[in-house]
Amino acid sequence: MNFILFLFLLLGGFSSCQFSSITDKVPLQLHFLDVGQGLSVLFEYEGRFALWDVGSDSLGFLDTLRHYGVDTLEWVAFSHWHRDHAGAFLEFPKSLRSKDIVLKQVYYTKDTAFGFVSDSIFSILKSFQIKHREIQRGDTLFFVEGLQFKLLWPPEHPIYGGNGASGVLYISDSMSRMLLMSDLEEKEEKELLQLNPNLRADLLQVGHHGSHTSSSIQFLSQVAPKEAVISVGEKNPYRHPSPETLKKLNLILPDSSFLHRTDLEGTLKCLWYKNLGFWFK
Ligand SMILES: [Zn+2]
Ligand SMILES: [Zn+2]
Repeated sequence: MNFILFLFLLLGGFSSCQFSSITDKVPLQLHFLDVGQGLSVLFEYEGRFALWDVGSDSLGFLDTLRHYGVDTLEWVAFSHWHRDHAGAFLEFPKSLRSKDIVLKQVYYTKDTAFGFVSDSIFSILKSFQIKHREIQRGDTLFFVEGLQFKLLWPPEHPIYGGNGASGVLYISDSMSRMLLMSDLEEKEEKELLQLNPNLRADLLQVGHHGSHTSSSIQFLSQVAPKEAVISVGEKNPYRHPSPETLKKLNLILPDSSFLHRTDLEGTLKCLWYKNLGFWFK
């Protein structure tokens, strides 16, 4: 739970009447989907949906979307072209053809590490005539009025490939800040901080599934997250998350219960009340 909101509740800041008027409000729901070893975040607000990454292939991703009642996606954004983030898009033609799902827009970062997944995605976009556009640092994606979705990485120059090209998405309102790191690694974390010297986040999606190649102590202590999410597959061959990263997170986070993991808890659901705070359900 967001620390400020938590304190407010703890100190009896809400009368029951105030509390019900706040809980009557519709929150942005962030579903950190359990996609095994990979990443996919489904955003839901007032019956509208968008996706940041889609996870790996062969996991029945479309069934997952059906489960949430997704029939239209405002956008799908790919952080980079690695299979564990973009692979499940290869399932989409079935639903696009039958119009089970209407996809309005696709965004992708300038990742120079092209291959089978990216080639296949571009051919799907072309054959279904789906609008698509490259995004980079400074671009914003619209989803909820009053909540900013801003790209902090990759910059226009130099050009990156693979994990280094990982889109970093910063979501904020007047109360809360959240940072989705995708697979960004230490070298680029450093450059990201040089570009954003005052970067802070209340909620952090830990880079590269908790690998030891991401989340330097300098980066974590600067960003100073109060809660963190690791999207990672159970018993994955890479042994993510690394014990070093877990140790660092336990040093930075106020309490170990503020670290959430999809391999241990399955899909994680976070409710974000505009300008009030967020908490995990
Ligand atoms: Zn990954
Ligand atoms: Zn990657």
